[in-house]
Amino acid sequence: MTATRLDGKAVAAAMRGEIAARGAARAAAGLPPPGLAVVLVGDNSASQSYVRAKQKACGEVGIASRLDHLPATTTEAELLTLIAALNADPTVHGILVQLPLPPQIREEAVTFAIGGVKDVDAFHPENVGLLALGLPRYYPCTPHGCIQLLRRSGVEIAGKHVVVVGRSNIVGKPLALMLMQKPTAANPAGGDATVTVAHTRTADLAGICQQADILIAAAGKAGVVTADMVKPGAAVLDVGTNFIDGKLVGDVEAGVAAVAGWLSPVPGGVGPMTITMLLENTLRAAELIAGPVSG
Ligand code: NAP
Repeated sequence: MTATRLDGKAVAAAMRGEIAARGAARAAAGLPPPGLAVVLVGDNSASQSYVRAKQKACGEVGIASRLDHLPATTTEAELLTLIAALNADPTVHGILVQLPLPPQIREEAVTFAIGGVKDVDAFHPENVGLLALGLPRYYPCTPHGCIQLLRRSGVEIAGKHVVVVGRSNIVGKPLALMLMQKPTAANPAGGDATVTVAHTRTADLAGICQQADILIAAAGKAGVVTADMVKPGAAVLDVGTNFIDGKLVGDVEAGVAAVAGWLSPVPGGVGPMTITMLLENTLRAAELIAGPVSG
């Protein structure tokens, strides 16, 4: 078997077209463009390229983005002052602080400081709590991107056994929550799946993965999923981004393509979907703050 490609680039392009059309309808109704403020602290080259990609994507769908690039020596107090100003700025609907931050700045202090309605990453405890209750204000971008990529590629999630490798607050944990939840009008992404979460203390990782109808690798470790760990015909989503000898690779070994029914590539799989869901959240933030198109 050769796995069908879960083409994140193509699905993302289609979704970005939908987002651009909604943005154009807002502009036609005289509403202000959605505004995203991106904050980058320091000179991490991967972070710089992520930020560039996010701003480029904003421009393509009519979202106004601004970048505040602060030096690596920025203090926590200085960053919190900037966030307070962005919270108060009516042209800014979404705020994204690119992680990781330099060691003198506590990630939690920053996450907690961003106003809940402007928290388009959905990392603020208010948004995490709403998600856990099945009443999401925003879906976190990478988990939502995974679910949209599966659904829009025709992979059925409901009733399936999904194994998620990774339990971080950004990917594994919220993804597991979303996959297991009942879909409702307030929570349309709910997956109705049976979910197992694996991590570094999981005994018999291979045995657990072999039971998956849908296997999602979000460990950040190249080659953590090998062909012998995959049930023939399973859908495999590769969230991992690892740089090996300067080359971007995922968590899934190449041989998996011969066993899986579907497989997302790296690059071109989950990455473009994550950025697309950020655009979606920024548009939603503008609707919540500046109002929706009426009629
Ligand atoms: P993280 O915070 O480092 O979490 C990694 C998780 O994987 C942890 O729960 C860890 O277990 C688990 N893990 C690590 N090695 C493992 C192993 N050998 N066996 C089983 N479990 C293992 O990373 P993250 O932020 O969730 O990101 C995960 C990966 O996705 C990274 O490569 C990241 O760059 C990538 N990512 C990609 C996108 C995208 O858009 N494509 C977006 C976000 C993240 P413990 O909890 O036991 O330590």
